[in-house]
Amino acid sequence: MEDTLSEFEKIVRLTGNYVEQLVDEGISYISLGHDTSRGLENEGAPAPGATPAADSAHALKELQRSVSTCRKCALSKTRTRTVFGTGPCRTSLIFVGEAPGAEEDRQGLPFVGRAGQLLTKMLAYIGLKREDVYITNVLKCRPPGNRDPLPAEVACCEPYLLAQLEVVKPRLICALGRHAAQTLLKTDVAISRLRGRFHDYHGIKILPTYHPAYLLRNPADKDKAKDDLRKIKAFLDGACS
Ligand code: URA
Repeated sequence: MEDTLSEFEKIVRLTGNYVEQLVDEGISYISLGHDTSRGLENEGAPAPGATPAADSAHALKELQRSVSTCRKCALSKTRTRTVFGTGPCRTSLIFVGEAPGAEEDRQGLPFVGRAGQLLTKMLAYIGLKREDVYITNVLKCRPPGNRDPLPAEVACCEPYLLAQLEVVKPRLICALGRHAAQTLLKTDVAISRLRGRFHDYHGIKILPTYHPAYLLRNPADKDKAKDDLRKIKAFLDGACS
């Protein structure tokens, strides 16, 4: 039976088990990217006919299914829909926001409100469309009244982000805003100091920039966000690392 499992079924099974195990053990940080002992990359050759993209798409779908029924924290009681993420199952760039807002909670999609519209424009500034990048949040459920995520909620949800990164394998993460940047980097350094610089998140480069909702309130900082976006483009074009 084991022999006949296709590669994507293995990835799905392992990712699901992995996340469940991490959450159950209260572990929210794992090494990604360069640690070949973790298992997913070592799970044998792809099944005949199954492309890596198909494997990844299936793995994300199964992970999304797990998220949709998640009851690890109290946000499951107040959410309308979980907001898993959108974009190609394999891509170089992933944007990570803080948590869904009201419109995202209603539609089940990330960054679809006013901030999302500005994010779309920010992408266009560097010649990208939403479909080119993966977009998600640290939390997959909306905190009531858009309050800041609680550390316990982050601890429950971050393993899902790590599993998404495991599948999508981005070269660069762009953390959107203070909360996402500070949460992922485990720091309380101000976003004004974190932004525009490359940091490390489990072996993946991460560049924080201002949250589009912040930029709507503080348009004077849009030029700094543009600088950050040009750095992202240069990185993706291979001009810096
Ligand atoms: N703000 C976020 O951080 N994420 C969303 O998806 C929408 C608004």
